[in-house]
Amino acid sequence: MPRALGPRLALLAALLAGCASGPAPADDDDASGDPDGPWPGGAPAALSLAFDDGDASHLTHGVDLLEERGVAGTFFLTTAWVTDWDAWTAVASAGHELGSHTVVHPDLTSVSDTQLEDELVASKAAIEAETGASVRSIAYPFAAADGRVVEAARAYYDAGRLAHEGTPWNPAEPADPLQLVSTAPITTTTASDLRAELADAVAAGGWLIVQVHGIEDSASGWEPVPRVVYEQLLDDALQQDVWIAPLIEVVDHIEGRGR
Ligand SMILES: [Zn+2]
Repeated sequence: MPRALGPRLALLAALLAGCASGPAPADDDDASGDPDGPWPGGAPAALSLAFDDGDASHLTHGVDLLEERGVAGTFFLTTAWVTDWDAWTAVASAGHELGSHTVVHPDLTSVSDTQLEDELVASKAAIEAETGASVRSIAYPFAAADGRVVEAARAYYDAGRLAHEGTPWNPAEPADPLQLVSTAPITTTTASDLRAELADAVAAGGWLIVQVHGIEDSASGWEPVPRVVYEQLLDDALQQDVWIAPLIEVVDHIEGRGR
């Protein structure tokens, strides 16, 4: 099952690269074995790759780009829009994370308490029933979440993703894993734009989450990001030994550090 081994091989490569680089200060209590920073293998930053809405282009231009490089992403599905559960089951089986993007993609801040609860619960239940995956992350539609929404989501999820108003990356110790910020490249975003945001995250030792909708195909998904731009982001990150992992893996790593 080489497809399933990909992310693990990438992690191993990152661990080996970390072991080989630079002097290591005294060890701390991190069970991951990272001697000198918050991320596994001494990685300079973390990067999560999020795909929203379950667009068909994620299957034709997202999964393959990740798997060619042995890394795993997080695919946030709007369950009422899913037409091919078998395809997403295969994505989960290959080691990627499936997350909720609700049932019908409403602005959760404007729905009733009853609908809010249903959007949170039914989307998670549908993905788990259809694919067998464990769903622990949610991307709030329109990146809209107020205190009521966040607290409702906290009952069912361990990670919640917004967009950003200020800094586009999260610190190594996010204040609230249910209010993670992300950057959202669009069709006109350049590889240089993304390289600069990644460089800022690396300089801060932080965690950059990049959320995209369409990839490459203008007929599938909002503001499709050119494939070549996305590939450059992945290659920039790998070249710098950035730790690339699904949202929930990063949250679990952070929780394991004893936050
Ligand atoms: Zn969306």
